[in-house]
Amino acid sequence: MVRSKPKFVVQEHHASHLHWDFRLEIGGVLKSWSVPKGVSLDPSLKRLAVEVGDHSIGYLTFVGELPEGSYGAGQVYRWDIGTFELIEPTDPLESWQKGSLRFKLYGERLKGEWRLFKMKGRKEQGKPLWLLQKIKDEFALAGHTAEIIGSVEKR
Ligand code: MN
Repeated sequence: MVRSKPKFVVQEHHASHLHWDFRLEIGGVLKSWSVPKGVSLDPSLKRLAVEVGDHSIGYLTFVGELPEGSYGAGQVYRWDIGTFELIEPTDPLESWQKGSLRFKLYGERLKGEWRLFKMKGRKEQGKPLWLLQKIKDEFALAGHTAEIIGSVEKR
């Protein structure tokens, strides 16, 4: 059986605080993290990634405005989209539950190897805290910070 590779998306979300939502297709949903500083290609940086609720697969392609008064009100831009593959041949959902994911991204902005791991026992307002880090490879870029693609006026 030929399976298509699972998808990932990074959405730049101009809510009350600008952040980037990092989502991986795992177990039939989009496992999701909110990354306040955005994804960095610099392997020396570990970006805080706050675990947030699962989103439906349909949300992969969402672009637009979350209306005023709704949770996360504000503009959502597609910062990157593509496919990914886990590096260890394990069950992705199990790896997520264990809090340790190592994967390759095939996006426009994000390529190469990454890791995302849960900080043991660390939570913020009940949400588990993870760190997202580029692994050193040919796609690493020292000093990189996430480019802001959305217009500030729409915030
Ligand atoms: Mn968000």
